[in-house]
Parts: sequence; C-alpha cells; structure tokens
Amino acid sequence: MTNRHDPATEKSRLHAIIEALPTGVLVTNAQGSVVLMNPALKQQIGLPDNMETGQAVGNYIPDDNLCKLILEISQGRPSDFDAMAPYEFPAAHEKFLQARCRPVRGAARECLGAVITIEDITAMKVIDRLKNEFVAKVSHELRSPLSTIHEQLAAVLSDMMGGAPSTDTHLLSRAKEKTQGLISLIGDLLDLSRIESGAVCTTPKPVMLEDLLENIIAFLNARAAVKHLRLTFEPPDEALPPVQADPLALESIFGNLVTNAINYTAEGGHIDVRLYRAGMDLKVEVIDNGFGIESRHLDKIFERFYRVKTVKTRYVTGTGLGLPIVKGLLDVLGGRISVASAPGQGSTFTVWLPAAAPHAS
Ligand code: ADP
Repeated sequence: MTNRHDPATEKSRLHAIIEALPTGVLVTNAQGSVVLMNPALKQQIGLPDNMETGQAVGNYIPDDNLCKLILEISQGRPSDFDAMAPYEFPAAHEKFLQARCRPVRGAARECLGAVITIEDITAMKVIDRLKNEFVAKVSHELRSPLSTIHEQLAAVLSDMMGGAPSTDTHLLSRAKEKTQGLISLIGDLLDLSRIESGAVCTTPKPVMLEDLLENIIAFLNARAAVKHLRLTFEPPDEALPPVQADPLALESIFGNLVTNAINYTAEGGHIDVRLYRAGMDLKVEVIDNGFGIESRHLDKIFERFYRVKTVKTRYVTGTGLGLPIVKGLLDVLGGRISVASAPGQGSTFTVWLPAAAPHAS
C-alpha cells in the first residue's frame, strides 16, 4: 500500500503546490490573522522573503479597504457571503494588483477564515489606458469635422428657407470635402485594426519590387503633375531578387510614402524613388526636396494621429495614420523604416525589406 492518502504527505504536497503557484495566495483565520502566504504574494506586495505569518492582515496588505474586506470575510460577515467582485488596488513600483477573496467554510458551513488570491494586472491596465486614449483620439478626430459639416448644412438649410442661396454651393462643396476626409479616416482606421489583428499579409508571394514601384509611380504621376512635381524612379543597376510579401501591403507602404512626398513638397519640387540591394535586404529610398521635418518631430511621426503643424503643412489634409500603417505593415513583413529630414531641405524615407530566399516560389 502506498502512502498516497497519508494526510501528512498530502499536506506537504499541497504546501509545495501553493509555494510554487505563480498567483499570490494568502489565507487568514477567523480572527483575520494571516496563517499562510506564498512567495508570489510576498513578491507582488513587496514584502521581505523572510516575513513570517501570524500577524493581523493589515500588517501585510498595503490597502486599507482591502484589509477591511478581508477581515469581514474572515469573520463570516455577511454570513451568506460567497463571492466578492475582484478588487483592484495600486502597489509599489507602479504596479496594479487584483485581489479575489472567498470565505473558507468548515463542515457545518461555519467560517474558518478567508482565502485571497492576488494577480498582477499592470500590463492589462496599461493596455486599457492605451485603448481609452485611442478611443478618445478617434472620437475627437471624428467629432470636429462632423460638427463643421453640421454647421455647413444648417447654414444651407437656413439659406433655403430665407431664399438667399448665394454661398450654398461653396458650403456644400466644403461639406463634401469634409465627408471625404472622414471616409479616408475610417478607411485608415480599419486598415490599422486589420494590421494589428494580424489579418494582413496572410498570403505572401514573390514580388518584383522594381515592377511594383514602376506601377505605383506611373499611377501617382498624374497627381504629381498637378503640382508640377518631377516624380522619377531610378531602377537598380543589377538584377534583384524578389521579396516574399503580400503585394497589396507593399502597394500601401510605397503608395503612402510617395503620396506623402507629393503632399509635403511645394510646387515645382522633385521626388526620386531609388531601389538598391543592401546585403540580404532590398532598400528603397523615397527622396523629396519638400518642406522637411524638424528633428524633434522625427520619432513621433510614426505615432497614430501625429501630424506636424506648420504654416506650410496646415493646408495639407491628412489623417495622421499613413505612417503608422506603413510601420505596422513593415513590422508584419519583417522590414523596417527610417527617416532623415531637415526643414526647408526635404526628407528621405528609407525602407528595408528582406529579399526572398532563392528557393521561395
Ligand atoms: P498624414 O500625411 O495623413 O498627416 P502620416 O502619418 O502619413 O499622416 O504622416 C504624419 C506626418 O508626418 C504628416 O502630417 C507630416 O507632417 C509628416 N510627413 C510625412 N511625410 C512627410 C514628408 N515626405 N515630408 C514632410 N513631412 C512629412
């Protein structure tokens, strides 16, 4: 016969399991004194490793409300209590912890104390905060153009009532422009959320970058011509391998970069797109002699909604989501991007993409 059910063995096994648990565990008796706590709990709360049990719970837990709750549950108040909503509290080193407490009941359902588990929810809190900030920014970006459209339509309506429709065409065309901006914004937001949920670049195939860039430039040349910009492509001086990627993702990356170069370069300027081999990567440079960007903005332009506001850029419409989309796509494709720029001189955006392995088909 084995000693599998021997109470002493069982108890030491249970003890070893509780000691090893990554979740913090604390147990009190009916007087609210701590009778057990594991290393994870000491670490979460910042208690010394050698701190012994035996004292009132308030000497261990740094949050007064939680201590009060634990005491009440330990003492069986209220008697029918069996579940408490998770309780969140801040701890040392900017940590956020979440506690759950349950009464420990004996055979006759009498209360013997309480068991408390504690989880570190700091990462969740950070994500939550970022999500809230994002929703606030999106709401702001949607609300201001919608309010303008609302005012413009209201003015047209009142003109119609008063029989003075002279400025209506202008107002309606401004309202139409704003709705176009909103449609672009929502399209970019949907693209970003698809990138972040991993729903892009799921079917990569070998793409010859030279052909793809030539097509994009041919397409955008019409837009460049309106501003009398010279948009050129310098093909590589050697045969280059393909890249293994989703062609739509590549079109979005280079379409965004060349469109930005067109938007942020004054009439008569020039934009040059160059393609090279750089070791195991292919390197594309989009060079313009446009407005340029001050160095203090350079690491921020890849953040969502960040737009540099100067006298020159204020009339350029945009969403502030183009570069975050480019960066997100490059992250998925294993590529990277950098920017060099000087105000009044222009900008160079450089993209590196891994070349496809020779056997890729
Ligand atoms: P959008 O162009 O819609 O504003 P982006 O995310 O594409 O958004 O770009 C963010 C900001 O970076 C732009 O608002 C602009 O201030 C700056 N920027 C991007 N590309 C260039 C460029 N080629 N030259 C100068 N400024 C640029």
